[in-house]
Amino acid sequence: AKARGRARCISFEPAMRTAPLQALRLQTELRRALERDEIGLALQPVVDLPGRRLIGFEALARWAHPGRGSVPPAEFIPIAEESGLIVALGEMVLRKACALLRTWQPRLGATALTVSVNVSPVQLARPDLFELVDGVIAATGADVRRLKLEVTETALAQDLDIVSSRLDGLRQRGFRILIDDFGTGYSSLSRLHRLPFDGLKVDQSFVRPMLHDEDCRNIVRTVVALGHALGVDIVAEGVEDPETGRELARMGCTSAQGYHFGRPLSPADAGRLVERLSGG
Ligand code: C2E
Ligand code: CA
Ligand code: CA
Ligand code: CA
Repeated sequence: AKARGRARCISFEPAMRTAPLQALRLQTELRRALERDEIGLALQPVVDLPGRRLIGFEALARWAHPGRGSVPPAEFIPIAEESGLIVALGEMVLRKACALLRTWQPRLGATALTVSVNVSPVQLARPDLFELVDGVIAATGADVRRLKLEVTETALAQDLDIVSSRLDGLRQRGFRILIDDFGTGYSSLSRLHRLPFDGLKVDQSFVRPMLHDEDCRNIVRTVVALGHALGVDIVAEGVEDPETGRELARMGCTSAQGYHFGRPLSPADAGRLVERLSGG
């Protein structure tokens, strides 16, 4: 039973084995999509536990392809990363997320609402990272303290001095740093302990099977305990049913994201939730 359990919670990323020619075509189309502003945002609610109140959104890239409908990020993010287009795409996502946050800001008042944005390893490694974020913040007038940046463990596997100076610089500007897909990468605890961050996102490959899989449940419990011990926030991802939400709350996990609490929404629908939150 143990071996089976372990096999079931093994992290699974869709293997992106796009044929070279198709990859090249996608790359060309993606470049055009960026020029034509066909990449938009979906905003997935993040809630607190056990209260289930809205505490923020994660901004996710969406490609409205004129011929093929909505192309999922699993198909175009790897291509964007290989081709370097992720730099322009990532800037665009940050810019749109900041602009949206700016339109909400007058209504946010005392609410703690935040917006998180994914930052690819390629972006984190760029020497002009700070210029870029400073430019976007200045242009949009977004409140940096309401922004969280999600970096994967892969991003953190780069040169330790560079990574920690990037994270330091971002935090000095007021951004909070979340380590995304925690548990699926290769960062050791000793490395983690030398990096500045504010929260961990428990990967859905552990959360989704956790009710039926003891190993996954123990991994989630351990990450929650680690977060408490380090004094950082924990966000559980991939919560698809109420029982998983309740079990997470029992474990002391204080925030969550998943289809059970809310699917990724259009900016307009997300705005309506924000209005309700601020009583407007
Ligand atoms: P992620 O950062 O781990 O984002 C969470 C993904 O899980 C999203 O998929 C979300 O729609 C999906 N999800 C949320 N709740 C549930 C649930 O309850 N069940 C299931 N089965 N799935 C759930 P999405 O939007 O397809 O994005 C996939 C990945 O693409 C993201 O994973 C992220 O790694 C990447 N990505 C998306 N937007 C961006 C971006 O702007 N920049 C970068 N660098 N990467 C992005
Ligand atoms: Ca993320
Ligand atoms: Ca994630
Ligand atoms: Ca993921």
